[in-house]
Amino acid sequence: MTPGLDAALLDGAMGRALELAAAAVEWGDTPIGAVVLGADGAVLAEAANEREKRGDPTAHAEVLALRAAARVHGDGWRLTGTTLVVSLEPCTMCAGASVLARVGHVVYGADDPKAGAAGSLWDVVRDRRLNHRPQVTSGIRAEESATLLRAFFRRQRGL
Ligand SMILES: [Zn+2]
Repeated sequence: MTPGLDAALLDGAMGRALELAAAAVEWGDTPIGAVVLGADGAVLAEAANEREKRGDPTAHAEVLALRAAARVHGDGWRLTGTTLVVSLEPCTMCAGASVLARVGHVVYGADDPKAGAAGSLWDVVRDRRLNHRPQVTSGIRAEESATLLRAFFRRQRGL
């Protein structure tokens, strides 16, 4: 745990990420939501996956939330001391973006065995060759996230 951000606060932020994830389904995107918290636990930014909505391969929830957080955090592109809360394990791009943004703590819900880059398939966030390594907490409200994703893919397949 990051000092100062307790389990209840992270649980609440994940609840918001899950709401954002559920909303993404309305415009045909995979249900993934992200929230960026400041060092004091205040919400700096939030976003849902908008890849389909924007026709943008980089419009993952984490990237959109990190960009929006940088605009309000007050230290240029640096998000030192912030916490990224996301409903699904970040992919290589988003794990990489978290490292580059110097996010202090990455908190995610469900594991993504097919594309996860925070421990499942790769571990970009804890690679000792990189000079910044965010702390990682996984499994927060993972079952709720997995349930949303399963329902989405079931509908996609027309079942
Ligand atoms: Zn991603």
